[in-house]
Amino acid sequence: MASVELRDLTKRFGPVTVVDNVALRIDHGQLVCLLGPSGCGKTTTLRLIAGFLEPTSGEIHVGDRLVSSAARTLPPEQRKMSMIFQSYALWPHMTVAENITYGLRLRKMDRDTIGKKLKSILQTTKLEALAERYPGELSGGQQQRVALARALVVEPETLLLDEPLSNLDANLREEMRFEIRRLHDEYRYTTVYVTHDQSEAMTTADMIAVMNGGKIDQLGTPEDIYDRPQSEFVARFIGSSNVIKGVARDENHISFSGATLRVVGAKLAANQDAAVAIRQHDIQLSTSAPASADNTVKATVTRQVFLGANRDYVVETADGTTLRAVTSPQTAVPAGTEVWLTLPPERCRALIR
Ligand code: ATP
Repeated sequence: MASVELRDLTKRFGPVTVVDNVALRIDHGQLVCLLGPSGCGKTTTLRLIAGFLEPTSGEIHVGDRLVSSAARTLPPEQRKMSMIFQSYALWPHMTVAENITYGLRLRKMDRDTIGKKLKSILQTTKLEALAERYPGELSGGQQQRVALARALVVEPETLLLDEPLSNLDANLREEMRFEIRRLHDEYRYTTVYVTHDQSEAMTTADMIAVMNGGKIDQLGTPEDIYDRPQSEFVARFIGSSNVIKGVARDENHISFSGATLRVVGAKLAANQDAAVAIRQHDIQLSTSAPASADNTVKATVTRQVFLGANRDYVVETADGTTLRAVTSPQTAVPAGTEVWLTLPPERCRALIR
């Protein structure tokens, strides 16, 4: 079983801590995305798992094997892992078939077995017609597929992907996300997928680990991460939520800009500063006072833009907080108009600060 477990994993380069005490368990057959902004330590974490780097402290276990610790690091070729790099790293002087079978030939497999494995992986990755071409004669998406085929044909226990789609155009990127997930479901290896792209992570992952400053800020399913952010960082990074700052009245109410808002999520401590996330499309905006004053706040429209499918508003509350709200395109309210915002309690998530 190729579960992968990081235990208090830390990597320092000189005085800089790049991976900071990370604990993460990836079950056999799971696809986990490491998601976060540039420089948060995703690639370094992946390279530690691959065995290209040694940890400063902490351990990595694969199944019941200890593969990395500060004292001992198993070399990459003994880890039963395949890694796909941003650049694909295909051999330009080898055909598609030669690129794919390189690892098998290195393992001195017999010709028949190599032929069978090649045929099967060419079929799975839809590359049969391109087997005799050279990488320079392929599109970006086709090269990506060759890199995938080459990584999979050796039947790794663990597949490591580092921003595998960043060199593709937007349409192809979308298609290849589904392709990666399809192949994962077919082979069920354990996959660690590094990306800074939220929708890529949402489409492919069973679990997403959102990284910030070398730490995992939140680990959860795509639904957890999107609907139940726990920190201000995750709320803003995933789907750009509004974050409202107020003062807690009790464990599930805050005072904000002259109003009282009922909230869900983290339990609050009375009289403490509190932060609450709400998504742009969860805020309702009206020009007349709503029937119920519950969870309503007065604001003034400062800007609105028609975006075809919806309208994007920037509003300012009496205490000077700027919020974004997305409404249907029919609601056209000019700048300068006073409006009522309704913030449904079940959509107001108190954050752990
Ligand atoms: P990106 O999405 O831009 O690739 P990332 O989240 O993958 O970012 P890492 O590549 O893990 O980030 O790098 C994290 C930090 O560690 C960066 O500030 C980087 O400059 C630093 N870093 C990475 N490798 C080294 C090294 N060998 N020596 C010193 N600093 C390094």
